[in-house]
Amino acid sequence: MQDSMMELMWKNAHLYGGNLSYVEQLYETYLMDPNAVPQEWREEFDRLPVSAQNITQDIPHSPIRDHFLAMSKNKRRALPAAVASVSSEHEKKQIRVLRMINAYRVRGHQVAQIDPLKLLKREPVPDLDLRFHELSEADNDTQFQLGSLFFGPEEAPLRSIVEDLKKTYCSSVGVEYMHIVDTQEKRWIQSRMEPVRSSPVLEAETRKHILERLTAAEGLEKYLGSRYAGAKRFGVEGGESLIPCLDELIQRAGKEGAKEVVIGMAHRGRLNVLVNIFGKNPSDLFGEFEGKKTLETSGDVKYHQGFSSNVMTPGGEVHLAMAFNPSHLEIVSPVVEGSVRARQDRREDEVGNSVIPVSIHGDAAFAGQGVVMETFQMSQTRAYKTGGTIHLVINNQVGFTTSKKEDARSTEYCTDVAKMVQAPIFHVNGDDPEAVRFVTQLALDYRNAFNKDVVIDLVCYRRRGHNEADEPSGTQPLMYQQIKVQKTTRELYAQRLVDEGVLTAEDCKEMEQAYRKALENGEHVANALVLEPNTELFVDWKPYLGHQWSFEADTRVDIKLLQELGQKMCRFPEGFAIQKQVQKIYDDRLRMAAGAMEINWGFAETLAYATLLAEGHPVRITGQDVGRGTFSHRHAAVHHQKDASTYVPLQHLADDQPDFDIYDSYLSEEAVLAFEYGYATTMPNTMVIWEAQFGDFANGAQVVIDQFITSGEHKWGRLCGLTMLLPHGFEGQGPEHSSARLERFLQLCAEHNIQVCVPTTPSQIFHLLRRQITRPLRKPLVVMSPKSLLRHKQATCSLEDLAEGSFQPVIGEADKLDPANVKRLVLCSGKVYYDLYNRRAELAKEDVAIVRIEQLYPFPEEILGQTIAEYTNLESVVWCQEEPMNQGAWYCSQHHMRHVLQKHNPSLHLEGVGRPHAAAPAVGYISVHVEQQEQLVNEAING
Ligand code: AMP
Repeated sequence: MQDSMMELMWKNAHLYGGNLSYVEQLYETYLMDPNAVPQEWREEFDRLPVSAQNITQDIPHSPIRDHFLAMSKNKRRALPAAVASVSSEHEKKQIRVLRMINAYRVRGHQVAQIDPLKLLKREPVPDLDLRFHELSEADNDTQFQLGSLFFGPEEAPLRSIVEDLKKTYCSSVGVEYMHIVDTQEKRWIQSRMEPVRSSPVLEAETRKHILERLTAAEGLEKYLGSRYAGAKRFGVEGGESLIPCLDELIQRAGKEGAKEVVIGMAHRGRLNVLVNIFGKNPSDLFGEFEGKKTLETSGDVKYHQGFSSNVMTPGGEVHLAMAFNPSHLEIVSPVVEGSVRARQDRREDEVGNSVIPVSIHGDAAFAGQGVVMETFQMSQTRAYKTGGTIHLVINNQVGFTTSKKEDARSTEYCTDVAKMVQAPIFHVNGDDPEAVRFVTQLALDYRNAFNKDVVIDLVCYRRRGHNEADEPSGTQPLMYQQIKVQKTTRELYAQRLVDEGVLTAEDCKEMEQAYRKALENGEHVANALVLEPNTELFVDWKPYLGHQWSFEADTRVDIKLLQELGQKMCRFPEGFAIQKQVQKIYDDRLRMAAGAMEINWGFAETLAYATLLAEGHPVRITGQDVGRGTFSHRHAAVHHQKDASTYVPLQHLADDQPDFDIYDSYLSEEAVLAFEYGYATTMPNTMVIWEAQFGDFANGAQVVIDQFITSGEHKWGRLCGLTMLLPHGFEGQGPEHSSARLERFLQLCAEHNIQVCVPTTPSQIFHLLRRQITRPLRKPLVVMSPKSLLRHKQATCSLEDLAEGSFQPVIGEADKLDPANVKRLVLCSGKVYYDLYNRRAELAKEDVAIVRIEQLYPFPEEILGQTIAEYTNLESVVWCQEEPMNQGAWYCSQHHMRHVLQKHNPSLHLEGVGRPHAAAPAVGYISVHVEQQEQLVNEAING
């Protein structure tokens, strides 16, 4: 289609009466989103020297005009007069005005007054200059059409258009949203900001309320500062607008129907949020400043503590939860997401508007830490979406002592990473609390309308150092000179309300005094707090509290039920075309269910899930490739070979069964594991499993293992029944795919914090998984799960083992040896057992017993003692492991074994056999691997 633009207009002239605003509208739409205009128009606009692709570059307008002139000259037939007027001087200027409007929408934020300190250095933005668009002050009084602007009238003088654009896009709010490709979202934002010029008129009562919340924010810090001078509290001073912001966010969320709001935040401002938003009793906080012990366990510092309460909103009671977090910044964000998803799942809310996640970040960490990107990446995926997160950056423009932009980041804003998910970003001046309130409302409404992430960048400052004991002027001299003379946000706002006659100076003073008095009396100071909360809004954890570690667990299942479930989990809809090998696996499973074939790992594991579902426990499994299983053993999600649809038989066992969710994760360990921790600490009744592709990939999530999974119960009293399946085993795959770094987990074990198990049979994994959830004890379970054992001919069991058995922390000698004959005892864990067993058979050694320790922590000392009691003639005992001797269980578990041997026969000495000490977990050469394996197995059996 080669029609010129003029011809296109000609064609449409009868529709639009030659009204050029049609073209203007089209052109503007095209500038925002080329795909939103018809192809014929897009091609024509593409030919213009300045197209949507380069609109932000500095290109003068004359070439466009020339292009228009050339097009009209080449025209083959006469155009009607109205259409020909496009080349009139006014029409040309009209198009330039439209382009200028677009420039303000795209780049207005770059000159917005967002820094309360007025120190932020901004590059000049030529597109916002009249001259750049070949307009001038002489055009100020000329009326122009407003195009798609939501300013009200259809036309206005240039002067007023520019003034309104400045108010909307360059005052206290700088908005980045033109990177969003969805036109509807962009129009939504414009329709909210432009009519009110980003500054809606507030009622006097609302303004007084904002001042009251600012007074609370400032009042608490002042009070703590004088009562506990020098104590670390990571005060919010400089960012006090956070409190009215959160207050509005929660109240509005409640009004819109939310039932829960879950907040994650780092240290700064946390105490203020807990007291002024959550309603934590100030006297409890004072107790913490005075070092009072509240937990029987190790506890944590006050600015890491979480909290729960209910507040009243115009839409009813809302439950608030503040996540506990370690000092490792940002890692709490995916934990919050997991907790929110769990709550949404509990409420069967697939959209996500009943529970709102709020992540509060610091500017330096938000720009610096990779988990932020991982968390954004999860935000729209099936497994991890939560209907949009409200991200709030407390941007105090300095990270501890690093403030130079060229040191702190390479991006323009600390929030730029959010653009990867096309989140709108509202930069707002923290000293304009009304603007903060406005963007808070926008952010929440955007989130609820589009169920996507949104960012509020609260640009503020830090009145003191990184903490209260720090002197900041040594490293930030100019900034702190300004901060010293900067009036507080409350002072500035109080003055504004006094100047505008909303309040008197006395009223403001009274507000301050009333707050201080309430604090001194130890009263709650969060006005919306509900003192007798509706407990139905959150999970009752009482059944899970107070259980001590025990090996006891009844995990048996009626054999008829097992067979019935085994059949059901092999059913597919009529005509569902299954791939050949997968079909074979399911055919085998049917035989296993019928008792006609020995049970393998994949069947036992999936049957364990079926039994849990039948008993009312939802199951959630995520991780890389979990649907199939990295090593093709699970096939829980089956793919139709003709239309690629997926079917998950475990979701179709019964109409009223609980959820069975299994999702392949995106390629993240850190955020994903943190998410599952958040999920598991919120849903005690659900079996929550994260499986690593290879066990050593858990390295990428070490912070979650160290700071949440292994220590959360003891630091914060938060129970967690998460299961981690970590494929582990030395099979010649080289340094990276052999070890799940068992030694690291064992080194973290103390106070019965986690369970570390190395099951070697299908029956063991069946009962271990069932044990994890059928009893009320909630402890993280770390499983060194197998790779080659998944298909090992000897690693099988019978239906009876599943029906009648239990998880054996120790498995005694499998053969019928005469105990009196046994001279040597080999202790081991994991797949090396089968190598040892087969070598012993080859050598026909009847005086060597092999005992498997299937649970390494808590270590089953008593059970091991009972198992070996019959070997009264032992002469040697050896621990055999596949791992190098500086790795594996040797260092962390040998004292338990020695302890048992000491009781059994004090003269026995425990030897260790394994690969030589090594820096890497395994060798890269298969020949060396085989040689090492031979050697360690021989040495263990023969001595
Ligand atoms: P939340 O919904 O997170 O605010 O939790 C509500 C209440 O349940 C908390 O105040 C705790 O008493 C309890 N609770 C929540 N999570 C856990 C957990 N993981 N372990 C023990 N108790 C919990």
